[in-house]
Amino acid sequence: MPNHLFDQITQRMPVADAPFAHLPDGRNYSYADVLGVSARFANAITILGVKKGDRVAVQVEKSMEALMLYLACVRAGAIFLPLNTAYTPAEIEYFLGDAEPSLFVCDPARAEALRPAAAKAGAKLETLGVWESEAKSAGSLSDKALAASATFTDADCAADDLAAILYTSGTTGRSKGAMLSHENLASNARALVETWRFTSQDVLIHALPIFHTHGLFVATNVILFAGASMHFLPKFEPAQALSLMQQATTMMGVPTFYVRLVDHPGLTKQTTAKMRLFISGSAPLLAETHRAFEAKTGHAILERYGMTETNMNTSNPYDGDRIAGTVGFPLPGVSLRITDPETGTPIAAEEIGMIEVKGPNVFKGYWRNPEKTAAEFRPDGFFITGDLGKLDARGYVHILGRGKDLIITGGYNVYPKEIEGEIDAMPGVNESAVIGLPHKDFGEGVTAVVVPVKGAELNEKAILAALEGRLAKFKQPKRVLVVEELPRNTMGKVQKNVLRDTYRDLYKAS
Ligand code: AMP
Repeated sequence: MPNHLFDQITQRMPVADAPFAHLPDGRNYSYADVLGVSARFANAITILGVKKGDRVAVQVEKSMEALMLYLACVRAGAIFLPLNTAYTPAEIEYFLGDAEPSLFVCDPARAEALRPAAAKAGAKLETLGVWESEAKSAGSLSDKALAASATFTDADCAADDLAAILYTSGTTGRSKGAMLSHENLASNARALVETWRFTSQDVLIHALPIFHTHGLFVATNVILFAGASMHFLPKFEPAQALSLMQQATTMMGVPTFYVRLVDHPGLTKQTTAKMRLFISGSAPLLAETHRAFEAKTGHAILERYGMTETNMNTSNPYDGDRIAGTVGFPLPGVSLRITDPETGTPIAAEEIGMIEVKGPNVFKGYWRNPEKTAAEFRPDGFFITGDLGKLDARGYVHILGRGKDLIITGGYNVYPKEIEGEIDAMPGVNESAVIGLPHKDFGEGVTAVVVPVKGAELNEKAILAALEGRLAKFKQPKRVLVVEELPRNTMGKVQKNVLRDTYRDLYKAS
């Protein structure tokens, strides 16, 4: 039966024995394995009673079988719901209560701790671990999949049927489930294959987690839609990535991957000579990292911008200037505008406002949350991303940060990125985060949290003095705090909410 997403994957598949993935344990996964194993898992979940439209919540370690479970859900018409492996049982209880999955799949080692949460939500519990060898399964769902047939009749799924629900990282308030349709995922995979020129000859270094849109959809769907292959790694290790660059053509990473590579003595023109493309996203790549990487390798990292709710929105060009500190142009089929955040009226180039997007990539709304969904869309269908940005004269999109990170001090708007840019350019500074903290005179006091480069000495007075004359008085930080590192989430994003919380009483006495 027609299955909107999976049919597009099978139509693009190369010959059956072509490689899909090379695993660190030496196993090779062919496209025939993709078809067979995803069918086995689709049969296993169907036998367990999963029906079209049911949610299948999954909190497991990264493995090829976990990826096959995603495809199995697509094939069975179920809704794949991956959960961050760092979530605690209390957090899992919230997600299961909210999503009401009919099946919850977890790591065998966590089954006992999570059984009460599954029972409370009325979900069946099965386990899936990392396979140690082809002959040895791990977990009850693997056993059921091994015993099931390797052929499956795909469920009938239309373009708008849901393929997945991904919970947002929830840095403010509770996470919300973003509902992603078959066509949301398919359209984005097609746009990215075209924009980044992926072909069946490509070999990707895949070291990202697969519970997030980056590793799950951007990386995996691009490989499937190109009929290409990947080195599928449990996590990112610079030395391993460098050695795989002899056999690979492309890498997708978060900025921390590139920071770590730049620090590695093995990163040279020679070690990266066979690679054709390095892509970065999920958090801002420092212009300095972009420049350092290019100086060492001759490769200009291609930065792109997306989010859980929208898949990918923009990308720097494949041909043409990949400009550090920008995220390039809207992808084919994606409309992007910058508006006055209050009124939604489009504003001129070079002016800072709210980034809004519309297109086949944009999600269907928040799971069981019509009010929140309505609040985040304009009447003409544009989604209000919550990111502040601008378009420059050449049409490149610049991201200035999350709207909620905007600082309002004495009635003036301060965009943290502008101040961070000034501080980051100072000698001895590794990186910085500028936040607003409660202040009785100003409403919010501009505050810089600064990380020195290894071995450098930084002091507050010198940084403040250096900023005088470079920034308008109202933009200058009231305090500079020197710390060893910034708090980050698993995707490498700086958690400004954590910083605001840690230092919330800083100006209490003033
Ligand atoms: P997530 O939903 O976890 O993927 O987070 C999406 C958010 O990450 C976006 O709304 C942006 O704030 C941020 N983001 C993603 N890519 C970039 C980028 N290239 N530069 C700056 N911020 C980014």
